[in-house]
Amino acid sequence: MVNHLKDKVAIVTGASSGIGEATAIALAEAGAKVVLAARRTDRLQQLKERIKGDCLLVPTDVSNRSDVENLVKTTKDTYGKVDILINNAGVMLLSFLDKLHVEEWDRMIDVNIKGVLYGAAAVIPIMKEQKNGHIVNVASIAGHRVIPAASVYCGTKFAVRAISEGLRMELSPQSGIRVTIISPGIVQTELTHHITDPDVQQSVAKRSLTPLTSEDIANAIVYAVSQPQHVNVNEIMVRPTEQP
Ligand code: NDP
Repeated sequence: MVNHLKDKVAIVTGASSGIGEATAIALAEAGAKVVLAARRTDRLQQLKERIKGDCLLVPTDVSNRSDVENLVKTTKDTYGKVDILINNAGVMLLSFLDKLHVEEWDRMIDVNIKGVLYGAAAVIPIMKEQKNGHIVNVASIAGHRVIPAASVYCGTKFAVRAISEGLRMELSPQSGIRVTIISPGIVQTELTHHITDPDVQQSVAKRSLTPLTSEDIANAIVYAVSQPQHVNVNEIMVRPTEQP
């Protein structure tokens, strides 16, 4: 493996499972110093032990602004800079709107949208001062089209794409900060485990196509952040071959 991210410092939110975990491993294999953030510290600790290179663990709830500020400050204090922020943490609590799972709508908005905004807010001043940096926001194919029982989740991912595009237009030309949207299709992870609606849970479980792996998405992220400074990969969409 080429160490093309040697000396880079990368924060990964939602690193305790799925895409975030695979991305942290892939970034570390490419030579980056990786900062692992999520709430389940036991899982982060296991991951830290698997990663051979320089690695830091910062317990973080991305829906809590001061947690996210602490994550970024700890990274800067430890490594002196922040090159890459992977805003990956997310929840997908699918249900039909008329079931009124309002608390789940709130959670998706807090984690998927506010978490991304808090991350951006914490790194922008640092990256502006550095005159470079890379913010990668994990959106979804669900950020491109609305799916029944996924309206609020789709809304959060449409928002992630809109915010990312705004960040890119406002920050890239002036400050050299690059912004990439990653939009995966169906990936085999723990994401569906938290769905509380039994009918929706069942229909999700019945899906028969061969899903992507977390490593497939990690590869796309490593590709985006490994490009030279003049190349700004704006969005990568990756679907399973069988996904319409
Ligand atoms: P997982 O459930 O495996 O991972 C989700 C991660 O988000 C976990 O590490 C979890 O950590 C973290 N997380 C959830 N809530 C919070 C919070 N409040 N603060 C900090 N971290 C939090 O699912 P995926 O790997 O699939 O999901 C990663 C991203 O990919 C999400 O944004 C998801 O929307 C997106 N995505 C996934 C697709 C799929 O099919 N799997 C398709 C398209 C996009 P912890 O619970 O320890 O805090």
